[in-house]
Amino acid sequence: MTEEDLLAEADRRAASYLRDAARRRPFPDARALAGLALFDEPLPSKGRGGADTLALFDGAGSPATVASNGPRYFGFVLGASLPAASAIDRMVLAWDQCASSHDTSPVSAAVEKVAAHWILEILDLPRESGVGFGTSATTGTITCLSAARRTLLARAGWDFDRDGLAGSPGIRIALSATAHISVRKAVRLLGFGNARVIEIPTDDGGRVDPARLPALDDRTIVCLQAGEVNTGAFDPFEAVIPVAKAAGAWVHVDGAFGLWARASNRRALTAGIDAADSWTTDGHKWLNTPYDCAVAICRDRDAMAQAMNSDAAYFSAAADSQKNMTMEFSRRPRGVSIWAALRSLGRDGVAALIERHCDYAAYLGRRLLEEGFDVVNSVCINQVLVRCADDVETLAVREAVLDSGRTWFSPTSWQGRPAFRLSISSWRTEMADIEMLIEALIDARQSVMTAAKTMS
Ligand SMILES: *Cc1c(COP(=O)(O)O)cnc(C)c1O
Repeated sequence: MTEEDLLAEADRRAASYLRDAARRRPFPDARALAGLALFDEPLPSKGRGGADTLALFDGAGSPATVASNGPRYFGFVLGASLPAASAIDRMVLAWDQCASSHDTSPVSAAVEKVAAHWILEILDLPRESGVGFGTSATTGTITCLSAARRTLLARAGWDFDRDGLAGSPGIRIALSATAHISVRKAVRLLGFGNARVIEIPTDDGGRVDPARLPALDDRTIVCLQAGEVNTGAFDPFEAVIPVAKAAGAWVHVDGAFGLWARASNRRALTAGIDAADSWTTDGHKWLNTPYDCAVAICRDRDAMAQAMNSDAAYFSAAADSQKNMTMEFSRRPRGVSIWAALRSLGRDGVAALIERHCDYAAYLGRRLLEEGFDVVNSVCINQVLVRCADDVETLAVREAVLDSGRTWFSPTSWQGRPAFRLSISSWRTEMADIEMLIEALIDARQSVMTAAKTMS
């Protein structure tokens, strides 16, 4: 097969996969999972060729996918993939650019520069900020916290790049007690030690309590969040950030999905967030770009560029080249997906996407309350946290819904008790899908109650 034929065949298969997106089981059934055994073959000595490899990948792989790119998947906050962003990604694959700098790919550098400008505009963050397009909010957090630590140590007269951590004046980290695990991972990788993290107590929505802030100073990094992973709640930025800044602390905000509320009529939830020093968000969650696409933003562009610099004698580039703003050296132009999403949707389209999901979540929360479910959170964006009459029923109802194959959502534990999270983040989801979800939950609870009666 020629390269052109092979790519056309991949596109044909991909289109056929997407045509079934709405009908696809949210989680593969046992038969599809058993089919994965077809991948268990020895490493071939003689190459099997592209067409055969593609056929196996699609034939055994497609049925075993999780349909998070469909309308009826409410697990985690995975988001689907916008057609425009996926189409542009196809071009990116064809180009195969190493988007380290202008020298390796002028077009990538130019488009990512626009994307950087637009992201600051649509999220209304300080326009002078540095922007790095990386693989995830996790690496974005590592990037921002690296800049933070290096900057605070420099202010204390310590050269972190030369002398490292050992013997340094020391930096403390204060995290929301409900901080996302990836923030804790970033802190761990950076060598702070989980046991030394200062936890900021939170209220019953998972927001940090401004009345119970620890003592802050100019050697403390404070991590807040926009969009708690269970409740969707936002920390009270207006009450906390000015206090932290007055003490000389660095404030970082994890807004992996929640930061997008700022681009919608839910913007008030983020009031005061622009006073922070750094922010992370994902493209691949609520903005519905393909993976792996995320953004690290740092008010002090130079601090970011110095912390992440990777210039070498054989390859140096502008201070704000993407290789000098992210973890990666060789990289795909990940900001292109952001550019494609923002350009194809426009400011209004992004707002409409976010607002529609928030409206669906509000409706879903109201209807489930009416139906006698326990809606645990105050629904403020796209997250609905639910329990049933008791813990046993909560777990059983989720199992019964999953068994029905109609939809999928993730379990969690909130304040020590089981619950399930319903997240709305796919551009394909429509009101009919929300009604289906409500029906599936009611039916599942009915079957669980019937089974319990039969048993007793
Ligand atoms: C998903 C998530 C992260 C991590 O983002 P990745 O892109 O998966 O690394 C961080 N914080 C919150 C609140 C999240 O939901």
